[in-house]
Amino acid sequence: MSCQSIDAKFQLPQRYQGQIQSFWDEYIQLTLKYKPMNLGLGFTDGPVPQYITDALAAAAKSPNSIVNQYTRGSGHPRLIQALSTLYSQLVDRKIDPINEMLITIGAYEALYATIQGHVDEGDEVIIIEPFFECYEPMVKICGGVPRFIPLRLNNTTTSSNSEINSSDYVLDDGELEGLFNEKTKMIILNTPNNPLGKVFSRIELTKIAELCQKYNVLCVSDEVYEWMIFDDNKHIRICTLPGMWERTITIGSAGKTFSVTGWKTGWAYGPANLIINLKMVHQNCVYNCPTPIQEAIAIIFEGEIKRLDSPACYFNVLAAELKKKRDFMAEFLNENGMKPIIPQGGFFMTANWSALENKADLSTELDTQQDFRFTKWMIKNVGVLAMPPSAFFSDTNKSMMEHFVRYCFFKTDENLQTAANILKEWTGKVMTIRQNCLPAPPNDSI
Ligand code: PMP
Repeated sequence: MSCQSIDAKFQLPQRYQGQIQSFWDEYIQLTLKYKPMNLGLGFTDGPVPQYITDALAAAAKSPNSIVNQYTRGSGHPRLIQALSTLYSQLVDRKIDPINEMLITIGAYEALYATIQGHVDEGDEVIIIEPFFECYEPMVKICGGVPRFIPLRLNNTTTSSNSEINSSDYVLDDGELEGLFNEKTKMIILNTPNNPLGKVFSRIELTKIAELCQKYNVLCVSDEVYEWMIFDDNKHIRICTLPGMWERTITIGSAGKTFSVTGWKTGWAYGPANLIINLKMVHQNCVYNCPTPIQEAIAIIFEGEIKRLDSPACYFNVLAAELKKKRDFMAEFLNENGMKPIIPQGGFFMTANWSALENKADLSTELDTQQDFRFTKWMIKNVGVLAMPPSAFFSDTNKSMMEHFVRYCFFKTDENLQTAANILKEWTGKVMTIRQNCLPAPPNDSI
């Protein structure tokens, strides 16, 4: 009998090795310690409409006590029915709620089930940068090979004074086609994109769709910000383009849709022969999602479906509210010397801080990437939390947005104003050190 040491025997399995701990943990720790104005994390700090929280209370208190028990594994009947009613209208085809839809623990699990359910050892997966950072490790855990392509600033956007919009970031068609080959299994698209806020146009999506069909590739379309679209932009679901339903899994999130990220409920829809692969993964890790939360989301969707075209529909209320916040943030960032990229959708704004570099002492931070240094320095010395965009790039392209930060503008007007004031105070001074003024945290742990 071999007698390996505990350390040797209980190492992380090979498939997880090489993964690094999520950078979010460190930023959450810093937030707890320094208590900055939180423009980092992707959720609102304001109240959620009462009818939304009431729906959860009503679900839990339902006289039908079955609502508090296990429900159907791949989706609570009332929720899949509501989602199928909604998306059948939006994608202009009848979606079969039983076979063409899966409810998951957040969009995160939908991504996991889609990637695990399709990617095999050696399969190549095209990932558009910047990207929601779990895509890369999820692909690698399956033995897949990520192939990255960055959105680049269109070289016709020349004047350094002109406003930059997220639509100015584009894929190079030749570079994109160059990544496709017989090993390509999947491409992951995120529209509106986190962190840039880019909403892919019909022309851009058509190019991706043509390549998917030419090389027989599955398109995973992460559309968690589908309702947060501004100005004249339009959210186009790639599964509606000719020949794409057969090869697209579309992913959504109730947490993002109804501003309740803590409810962690998402979904995937697509053709039955693909969804069945996700169901296999889901069945072997989560099995079923919380029933009262699914019931509540179903109740809320049923209400919104009845008033989709009304300005009172939450989807329209949210987009209008976010647009005002986006514009306010763009204004105060510009005033303070940060050059924002105006997002077409979502609730994040990236901004270039190069002009403020001489106001921060980045030598006090040890990270390789400048944006990690800058954001940490800002948390400790100025009191505003932003996320570092280089975390949304592959190793090769991390420097592309190293002089940017990512702010979330889905914050109360008061908090946005406070953030604006803090930045103004900082940029108006030679060097403000806030670190020593802050009370010591009661406890360092989460
Ligand atoms: N995709 C993107 C692009 C995201 O930004 C997020 C959350 N930040 C998710 C998926 C995960 O969504 P959920 O909270 O529903 O798991």
